[in-house]
Amino acid sequence: MDATAGSTETDAAPTDVPGRFGPYGGAYVPETLIPALQSLEETYERLTAEERFRDELRELLANVAGRPTPLSPAERLTRFVRARARKGRGARIWLKREDLCHTGAHKINNTLGQALLAKRMGKRRVIAETGAGQHGVATATASAHFGLACEIYMGSEDARRQRLNVVRMELLGATVVRVESGSRTLKDATNEAMRDWMGSSESTHYIIGSVVGPRPYPQMVADFQSVIGAETKGQALRQMGKLPDSIVACVGGGSNAAGMFRPFIEDAATRLVGVEAGGRGSDPGDHAASLLRGRPGVLHGAYTYVLQTDEGQTLPVHSCSAGLDYPAVGPEHAMWKDSGRVTYNAVTDAQALDAFSLLAHTEGLLPALETAHAVAEAVRLAEDMDENADLVICLSGRGDKDVEEVVRLQALRQSTQSPSDSPAGRE
Ligand SMILES: *Cc1c(COP(=O)(O)O)cnc(C)c1O
Repeated sequence: MDATAGSTETDAAPTDVPGRFGPYGGAYVPETLIPALQSLEETYERLTAEERFRDELRELLANVAGRPTPLSPAERLTRFVRARARKGRGARIWLKREDLCHTGAHKINNTLGQALLAKRMGKRRVIAETGAGQHGVATATASAHFGLACEIYMGSEDARRQRLNVVRMELLGATVVRVESGSRTLKDATNEAMRDWMGSSESTHYIIGSVVGPRPYPQMVADFQSVIGAETKGQALRQMGKLPDSIVACVGGGSNAAGMFRPFIEDAATRLVGVEAGGRGSDPGDHAASLLRGRPGVLHGAYTYVLQTDEGQTLPVHSCSAGLDYPAVGPEHAMWKDSGRVTYNAVTDAQALDAFSLLAHTEGLLPALETAHAVAEAVRLAEDMDENADLVICLSGRGDKDVEEVVRLQALRQSTQSPSDSPAGRE
């Protein structure tokens, strides 16, 4: 079977076995990859059981990533929401500041963990796929820290659009391999990285950038990102005197959301909300809302929600934010959607753009366009919540990388249209 086929799998076993999330997850890969995945899983389990590995990871997160990140009250954003809400309404809004991590987003939490794993497994080389280049930069950074050779697969179309990140990766000592197949974007880069790993797994570790791909990646990446939710929990208890009433995070592959949500899954009183890219509309090809508009199938080695045609062909996707522009989602989110533990909504490009400006003007920070989706949904939710309630936004990354795109989109909007109804509007 092709590791990357977007075929529909209807008879996946609904079990509780490791690597499965309800019926989702698994490892739908060619035989040749099974030994590499098994060895990775065994080593991962053995190492994470070691005190020494956990201490080393904690030190890396402090010294290289700059953790812990603050949980900051968003006072002027809260005031903005209360001014529009009915009397007695308008939750207090807090920001979990992953944008303050080294390299500007949560992705470094995972790449440091996996690079440490690679080092301890005796691998000399790492590879990764990247879309906009954020995961590529975080991987190149972690590789440089450990002196590992690093090759990053990137679609040539993405490399053209995100030239600055290509330069960054190269300055950090990585080699960027431009992929010319298919649509020359993230999906094609992932296919090529998997192909590389099939022939190189003896010497090479493949650092997947989100909670996607075959077992054990979704589990492993969520473990590395759970530092976000674990810190938030401790900070909430100290700063709010209780757990948050709601937590909102954007969902591309789903790693910042999974890392934030996981430590709260058993806390039924905390409402968890994931936000997908609603793009420019609900037609196929206009969005990247895999959970809301996809259906179960196999992509990149996992059984999960996939945006696909009736024949099982993976659909093209669109979002103004490159990090949300993926036609599938982590299998754990698929399980949470089915169980109802997490609610998923979509926010459009236009609403995200408004939320970007709102956060810039009220809090003095430019969020990533991915993150702006979470901000838009959070503002809408906060308005209907009690004023004694607390809502946390997972501020997954900073927006410096998106400045040019935001300027372009704002100019486009002024020249064509119809302003969207409200900054916190909803699709
Ligand atoms: C990559 C990225 C995302 C999307 O990835 P997830 O795995 O869904 O977290 C979200 N926000 C930022 C800032 C990113 O760089």
